[in-house]
Amino acid sequence: MDNWVLKRAKLTPERTAVYDGRTRYTFAEVFERTQELGSALERLGVFRTQNVAMLADNTIRGYLLSVTLLLYGKTVVWLNKRLTDGELQGQMCDARVECCLKDDSLSERLSVASQADTEVRVIGFDEIFAEAGMDECGLAVVGDGSSEGGPGSDSEAKVRCGVPVATIPREFDEEQTVSIMFTSGSTGAAKGVRQTIRNHFVSATGVALNLGSDPSDEWLCAVPIFHISGYSIILRGLIFGVTVRLMDHFDASEMERILTDEPVTWVSVVPTMLKQLVSEHERGVASNTGYSSSFKGFILGGEKSDASLLQRCAKLGMVVVRTYGMTETCSQIVGTAIADGPRKPFCSGKPYFTTSLKFDESTGEILVKTGALTPGYVNSSGAFESKKTADGWYRTGDVGHFDDDGYLYVDGRLDNMLISGGEHVFPEEIERVYDDCPYVDEIAVTAESDETWGEVPVAYVVAGDDESLTDRLREFGRARLPHHKVPRRFYRVESLPRTSTGKIRRFLLG
Ligand code: ATP
Ligand code: MG
Repeated sequence: MDNWVLKRAKLTPERTAVYDGRTRYTFAEVFERTQELGSALERLGVFRTQNVAMLADNTIRGYLLSVTLLLYGKTVVWLNKRLTDGELQGQMCDARVECCLKDDSLSERLSVASQADTEVRVIGFDEIFAEAGMDECGLAVVGDGSSEGGPGSDSEAKVRCGVPVATIPREFDEEQTVSIMFTSGSTGAAKGVRQTIRNHFVSATGVALNLGSDPSDEWLCAVPIFHISGYSIILRGLIFGVTVRLMDHFDASEMERILTDEPVTWVSVVPTMLKQLVSEHERGVASNTGYSSSFKGFILGGEKSDASLLQRCAKLGMVVVRTYGMTETCSQIVGTAIADGPRKPFCSGKPYFTTSLKFDESTGEILVKTGALTPGYVNSSGAFESKKTADGWYRTGDVGHFDDDGYLYVDGRLDNMLISGGEHVFPEEIERVYDDCPYVDEIAVTAESDETWGEVPVAYVVAGDDESLTDRLREFGRARLPHHKVPRRFYRVESLPRTSTGKIRRFLLG
């Protein structure tokens, strides 16, 4: 397959590739800038090794550097800025990284003191952009900034000002690892997932076959680019030839403004973001502001969705495409169609054309086969292989079922499931019921052992200070759940332990 950055610059050089509200680059300009940055990285010695870590926000500089690594066939190892230095060091060690590119604005991460304990060299974006002769937006500040040879140039290894420049591969090997990305760590330590050219291409194809792809599409990226939800938007931008509108951090009222004033068509969100957006939109509807006519909808994923939230969206006429997927499958592999609308609010949609899906006959675990499936984890001695069946199906760790129309329902994670008096109970089902409870702000259900029942569900709740809270919660559950699913105890807590995208880390409770 042709190098995506080169190919896109040849196919649609004039189209906008990226825009952050201030700076706009076409695909031709991205190609030029990334060559300059590639030369700078070569001179700085970054390209001596294959795997290069990135610690970045959703900025133009983060975008350009990640595309530079792709252009030169390097593997980007995405780091999550919300982890501690110790966790980041551990992940870089797992991914055999010797060099990390860091946005200087993230000064509290990978500080000079913590670098003393490691072999990893940390290079700030300021230094790289200065070496490339560019300002903070990537604009040329020395020379004329023009590239030598356009995307059609035959010179692969070039010499600029007497300094050898790294080679740009004309072709990608489909099996080459483009990115290493760590899972969210909802169930324990995060795993470093290898993602290949083929994985990303199949993933993008599945999305295009579900949503359609139009050259005028513009994808708003407010989910972190260090998660698969964000990085896959960058790659879809290149594959589909559409604009990535970067938002450096999520802010509901700013997003509402963008969706009203700018020609964005799609935006990816997780449930905590959508909740804030709905409240914001409810206020906007009161003052008669609506989304721009180009806006097609929200792509919701990452965890179980909440039916009452979806009902609020439907009331406001907000289109929400629900999806299911994981880091190991390079993002969404199942989704609702636009035409599905708000019906079946608990379902996650149908398996994409590129996804085969079935269930383990005894446990109901969701098994998948897809070209988007990772070849494995880094540094894991068999952890990934043990999740594959003899005939190549991947055990997702999630349990689900189809309804009569072939829509997938994700019941919960096998790891979270408890067995109470012989009955299988998914904490997620209990939490969904309490999502509608007026006394509860947040809830997480886990298991406690019990002499009679083996295990019983218990709940950790963030709720107001009310003496009769436990009675009210028990009563609420009894009216809606079978007896064995009503939490046996309710513990009031100030907050719940969550991952950076808001998923509950149940294993830290209790
Ligand atoms: P870790 O593997 O480190 O424990 P994680 O599984 O949360 O973390 P991700 O790859 O970010 O890491 O998330 C994928 C998981 O998120 C899925 O396996 C599933 O459990 C959950 N998930 C994703 N989409 C949905 C959905 N639509 N409904 C229910 N759960 C979902
Ligand atoms: Mg997982």
